[in-house]
Amino acid sequence: MSPRIYFDHSATTPLDPRVLTAMGPFLGGAFGNPSSQHHEGRVARTAIETARAQVASLIGAEPDEIIFTASGTEADNLALIGAVRASGKPGHVVTTSIEHAAILETCRFLAASGTRVTHLPVDADGLVGPESLLRALQANVTLVSIMAANNVVGTLQPIEELAHLTKLHGVLFHTDAVQAAGKIPLDVNRLHVDMLSLSAHKLHGPKGVGALYVRKGTRLSPIVFGGGQERGLRSATENVAGIVGFGAAAAIAREELAEEATRLARFRERISRELARTLPQSYLFGHPALRLPGHLSFGLRGQEREVGKLLAALDAAGVALSAGSACNANHAGEPSPVLLAMGYDSERARGLIRLSLGRFNTEQEVDRFLAILPQAVASITHAAAHSLEPTPDLPAVTFA
Ligand code: PLP
Repeated sequence: MSPRIYFDHSATTPLDPRVLTAMGPFLGGAFGNPSSQHHEGRVARTAIETARAQVASLIGAEPDEIIFTASGTEADNLALIGAVRASGKPGHVVTTSIEHAAILETCRFLAASGTRVTHLPVDADGLVGPESLLRALQANVTLVSIMAANNVVGTLQPIEELAHLTKLHGVLFHTDAVQAAGKIPLDVNRLHVDMLSLSAHKLHGPKGVGALYVRKGTRLSPIVFGGGQERGLRSATENVAGIVGFGAAAAIAREELAEEATRLARFRERISRELARTLPQSYLFGHPALRLPGHLSFGLRGQEREVGKLLAALDAAGVALSAGSACNANHAGEPSPVLLAMGYDSERARGLIRLSLGRFNTEQEVDRFLAILPQAVASITHAAAHSLEPTPDLPAVTFA
């Protein structure tokens, strides 16, 4: 049996074996509490500080501007709730209509406590227009939060321009860079951002570790209270092995980013060309050029309601793809809120298939996928044409 093909790296990535090697000692003998003063504690502390420098270096930050958290979600919560609390007022948060749930749900929580929330619209490619941001900035704004790369369609926002406009109004700017980090170059000073969220498991690091970059001088209140770790902004004994893994993953990503991005973009372009050739009913979502190198989202005209079946057929044939965000996997078959916000009608918005490539994908896997896909599409088309005939049971869809 051929090995499975994993094309769902926007959901999560496999751990790089070099990251696992770096983590090894901290899952075993090096168990000290980094807050302890003895040798064991100092070993753990040194490892955390090395990782902090590695993560900082990936985004051009200073090590003491990195706050480790338990996830990208927690980093987003800390940025938004922390900035509003520090302002001492309910305030006004400006964000977009296509953010990840980690931002949208945090905004909903803040709104319930009186914070005004403005959702900026996006165009058909998923881009935020600077004019709509400028209009929103006319009202008193506490914080602007706009994602660097969208997790569903892969579109990259012009963060440098949007953050620059925001800073001209003296307003804090946060970006959720969970999907972008390690895949495109990011430099917090060139981008003019005050805060930036990261998550280790999206860049071949471990799950359950994130970080928030907080520019020196930014006023932020904690959302987790306790022993005062992480400069008082994130109490709790640190996940030492996870943080070490995050550091190693960030160092590898920094080193290999340019080569990896070129290779994945080449694979993506090849898949996109073949889609157009072999499946003329296919159409692409997201910006054609301003997009993550390894990310391709597409639909099949007239087969939008068959996406669940197609993903199941592909899964049975050994290929893992998804119908958009892993967090929305339970809502497969429903229109994607991101596509609705981009102006697609509810029929088209049901049809999203997300393909996201990663470090260990090979040209041979792309070849095999391109052979399997038309067969899988033909099988569901055939099944639909004979829908009165009994169909074989397929395993449940795996959305990773
Ligand atoms: N933000 C974006 C854009 C994401 O894609 C994700 C995860 O899919 C998150 C935040 C949440 O990160 P985590 O899984 O580390 O909580």
